Amino acid sequence: MKKHNFYAGPSILSQYTIDKTIEGIRDFAGSGLSVLEISHRSKEFIACMNETIALVKELLDVPSGYQVIFLGGGASLQFAMVPMNLMNSKSAYLNTGEWANKALKEAKLYGEVTEVASSKESNYNYIPKNYVVPSDADYFHVTTNNTIFGTSLKSDPDVPVPLVADMSSDIFSRPVDVSKYSLIYAGAQKNLGPAGVTVVIIKESVLGRVNRAIPTMLDYRTHIKAESMFNTPPVFAVYAAQQTLVWLKGLGGVKAMHKKNTEKARMLYDEIDRNKLFVPTIKDEEDRSIMNICFVMADGYKELEKPFSEFAKSRGIVGIEGHRSVGGFRASTYNALPVESITALIDAMKEFESKN
Ligand SMILES: *Cc1c(COP(=O)(O)O)cnc(C)c1O
Repeated sequence: MKKHNFYAGPSILSQYTIDKTIEGIRDFAGSGLSVLEISHRSKEFIACMNETIALVKELLDVPSGYQVIFLGGGASLQFAMVPMNLMNSKSAYLNTGEWANKALKEAKLYGEVTEVASSKESNYNYIPKNYVVPSDADYFHVTTNNTIFGTSLKSDPDVPVPLVADMSSDIFSRPVDVSKYSLIYAGAQKNLGPAGVTVVIIKESVLGRVNRAIPTMLDYRTHIKAESMFNTPPVFAVYAAQQTLVWLKGLGGVKAMHKKNTEKARMLYDEIDRNKLFVPTIKDEEDRSIMNICFVMADGYKELEKPFSEFAKSRGIVGIEGHRSVGGFRASTYNALPVESITALIDAMKEFESKN
């Protein structure tokens, strides 16, 4: 039986992505070779890489002056590559969660870091506002969607310095004004494809301003120049990501997807707010993520956490357990999660309520 997959990452992919990937494993682009065994220098794979980059540019409406590259090392490597490539002496970070905090920690290896605001003291259950970004910072870093805590930034911050964003868990879920950012990065395994590849969108003019020596593999310019083929790229992961982008384009792109995601999230938050057994961990609607929806058992029902988990599992609902630092539940509702899965979870919550 096909499960309702609410895992936070790696996470659900569209059936189209799965089917096309299986096809490519058997015979990649009519080459008579599997995507698992084909040379990254083959004309078929070069075409795949170029098409994938073109789709990213098209779907996110990436302006000229920006480059799109595919790298290994996950979003976590970007925590280090960003300061290495962009920070001469100072940077600023908004601390909205565990990933933001990890990014900030890496930046400290390369200079002075200002934490402009933090919601750590309340277990990251809101997005700080009204902070000041120092105008002498080389860049300002934000995490647009906080995967673990279920908060998100609803608008692009207007700041006087280059803006850098970790969009690992909300890229392609909504339209983004890329021109407001100098660098955007995202690990693929939340909303794009299988684990193993990271997409980076960079404004070229922000590169080449730092004095330090940068190892060749960690220098963005290396990968821009080599068109993501400096060394062997994650061929399989890029191919699978391409299928997701084709699927997304066919559905009407990020605008149509955003509408669908907003509706899915509204349905689930409405039920969490209504159901006596559950409470949302993010109170302020403005801060609520539409990708990772967190909730816990209400007072008086705490002992029902495990039983609800089991009950949901019996309905084919998997991956709803919250991250260990929040507890309770987290339903990840990425692009590929169908509305039927939301309905299945809501039905389970209602039925569990009537039994308790
Ligand atoms: C998952 C995640 C990461 C870590 O990604 P890796 O590819 O595992 O390094 C970083 N930031 C955010 C917002 C994430 O959701």
